[in-house]
Amino acid sequence: MNDNLCADRPTFVTHLECSMTGERYEADRLHGLSQAGRPLLVRYDLDAVKAALAKDALAARETDLWRWRELLPVRRTENIVSLGEIETPLIPVPRSGGANVLVKDEGRLPTGSFKARGLVMAVAMAKELGVTRIAMPTNGNAGAALAAYASRCGIETIVFCPEDTPEVNVREIAVQGARVWRVNGLIDDCGAIVGKGAAEGRWFDLSTLKEPYRIEGKKTMGLELAAQGGWRLPDAIFYPTGGGTGLIGMWKAFDELEKLGWIGPERPRMYAVQASGCAPIVKAFDDGVEHAERWENAHTVAAGIRVPRAVGDFLILRAVRESGGKALAVDDADTLRAVADCARDDGLLLCPEGGATLAAYRNALATGEVDAGERVVLFNCATGLKYPMPEAPNWLTVPRRSTSTRCDG
Ligand SMILES: *Cc1c(COP(=O)(O)O)cnc(C)c1O
Repeated sequence: MNDNLCADRPTFVTHLECSMTGERYEADRLHGLSQAGRPLLVRYDLDAVKAALAKDALAARETDLWRWRELLPVRRTENIVSLGEIETPLIPVPRSGGANVLVKDEGRLPTGSFKARGLVMAVAMAKELGVTRIAMPTNGNAGAALAAYASRCGIETIVFCPEDTPEVNVREIAVQGARVWRVNGLIDDCGAIVGKGAAEGRWFDLSTLKEPYRIEGKKTMGLELAAQGGWRLPDAIFYPTGGGTGLIGMWKAFDELEKLGWIGPERPRMYAVQASGCAPIVKAFDDGVEHAERWENAHTVAAGIRVPRAVGDFLILRAVRESGGKALAVDDADTLRAVADCARDDGLLLCPEGGATLAAYRNALATGEVDAGERVVLFNCATGLKYPMPEAPNWLTVPRRSTSTRCDG
């Protein structure tokens, strides 16, 4: 039995806060975006957490996502719908990456992607706050995680996917009990449909960063990284950036850990990795601006990062800049080569978005942006098994033995 889920653990949420204006919002109420149209961030009484939770006590707990209860928003344990959110391992990739490169392999989470971290939290909070019907736009993995968790606790879900969403994603969403629609457009077109329905009161909008709790789930990546490194963070993190929830979440996690006194002020350089066919954050970073323009004609093999416009653009850019990192674009050809190299040489099958981080790392090494001696973590955010793989066309034909039984008399 996992104590993290049956113990009565105190919670420490004090309020929510607009990420742009700092305006306060009451906790324990259903919220979308702030009045200013920006993401809301959950705030905790970190002094009280510090008094209630010692590092050693944490170390004694099981290592899953729920060991971080004091830093998470769910008040009542019975609202947690768990499918087994394990701590994901850090896998060395010495041949395709380098001696100091680790891949945080998020493909091992329920529904095969790190969207499970965000959605397990968002669904628990939706349940806690009485939501009965949820809609969401998705490039695939988020919809699958939503469908799994929401169906499991009886919340109805309607999911909208861009027309070129991988077939396997659309089917896994359907088979896990959501009503799923393909839309002849991109993720932001799907988002507009969800927003309109939400405004009409037909459902709750669970789009990334348009509700406050996905980020709290994704932040556990940062908490885990710190614990796994013995409270020492890596020198650099390469993160495949679509909506950027994970990057923003990790940055928030580091801040909270510092306030608890568990880490110091040092931070990894955060590299936001995008595909050169859809790189709005990279363009905004290079232009030195705070908000990104919509990227037209977005295309890339890495569907999870095909996000032409992100509501949290300024939060991504802020974290990247404060950390001394960069936003980097990589070509699909380099991404696919990285996936192939890592599978063949290190035995780890990355998803294309994970391949993009490896490709970006290799480019950064070549340009001197990172040093081979630096400790680097790359994020592989879904299992490579969900994606198309190169053909394996070889057939060996052998003479068939007859199956009938001869009777030679
Ligand atoms: C959603 C997704 C991403 C992007 O994550 P964000 O935190 O939304 O930027 C990257 N890779 C995969 C496989 C994804 O499903």
